[in-house]
Amino acid sequence: MERVVEIETFDASEQSSEVTLRPDAWSEYIGQEQIKKNLSVFIEASKKRDEALDHVLFFGPPGLGKTTLALIIANEMQANIKVTAAPMIEKSGDLAAILTNLEEGDILFIDEIHRLSPAVEEILYSSMEDYRIDIIIGSGPAAQTVKIDLPRFTLIGATTRAGMLSNPLRDRFGMNFRMQFYTAEELAQIITQAAKKLDKEIEHIAAIEIAKRSRGTPRIALRLLRRVRDFTDVADERVISLETTQYALDQLGINSHGFDAMDIKLLNLLISAKGKPMGLSTIAAALSEDEGTIEDVLEPYLIANGYLERTAKGRRATRATFDALNIEYINSEGSLF
Ligand code: ADP
Repeated sequence: MERVVEIETFDASEQSSEVTLRPDAWSEYIGQEQIKKNLSVFIEASKKRDEALDHVLFFGPPGLGKTTLALIIANEMQANIKVTAAPMIEKSGDLAAILTNLEEGDILFIDEIHRLSPAVEEILYSSMEDYRIDIIIGSGPAAQTVKIDLPRFTLIGATTRAGMLSNPLRDRFGMNFRMQFYTAEELAQIITQAAKKLDKEIEHIAAIEIAKRSRGTPRIALRLLRRVRDFTDVADERVISLETTQYALDQLGINSHGFDAMDIKLLNLLISAKGKPMGLSTIAAALSEDEGTIEDVLEPYLIANGYLERTAKGRRATRATFDALNIEYINSEGSLF
């Protein structure tokens, strides 16, 4: 029987532009070696036992390959998969409708799972643990509770914020994996593989150049590759060269440390505090950005690479921040080195 892959996200650009570059086999999924190794054992074991895979949770910043992993798991398990995101499941009825439509062994992927409302989360608990949901039909004194048995399914959850997940929800996942940022070499491999799918060749050194400017993130690397390809096509070049890559990335204003405009704004703000810590709410107000986005999207890469320090009093620029932006280093007492 044909496998059903149903992707329903609110990010339309994702579907149209990236779907063709998305790997669907382990061999094309580069990096995250430990996760891959463990997952393949668990997948093989559950296939041998002819059981649905235990529930899986992935956490890590956006664009690191969580959805892709879920699709590969479905492929390996030969299972149907439905991909959705928490903001699309507004009411408990929405979740009940999804769950009751699942079949034995199906996979349900919920992105941004930390954003489920408490009422929806409650339904998820019993469905994950007992494969059963209680639905209340009607209201007031006439309300009735109906118990519905569900098939054995696998929930794959993804979140950018492990800390925002409630304990009862986290405890119901049999496996959880933290995604890592990718090395430049790994990203270069992803870029080269994607270039091939786009019918282009790319010099290794050019792939590394894109990789270095991609914040350790495949989604960014692929986006930059597409833009660089545009420049190459306009210049009528068959192979993507280092020269064209550098030119294109410079034109796009992509910094050689991988910073984008928002990173630079944030780092400059911290530098303006002369090395003193700044609170998250102050930063959010100054950048007109919400605190969640700063914590989930901006900070992880900067912290992992030593460009930002999180202290009890707030966020601070580091020596590396000053160096990266070519600004003379000032320590927290405000004196120049
Ligand atoms: P997330 O769900 O974590 O936000 P995605 O799974 O949507 O990230 O990945 C973003 C894009 O990056 C996908 O289109 C996919 O093609 C690519 N990608 C992510 N991880 C890898 C990887 N390990 N190898 C190859 N391509 C990857």
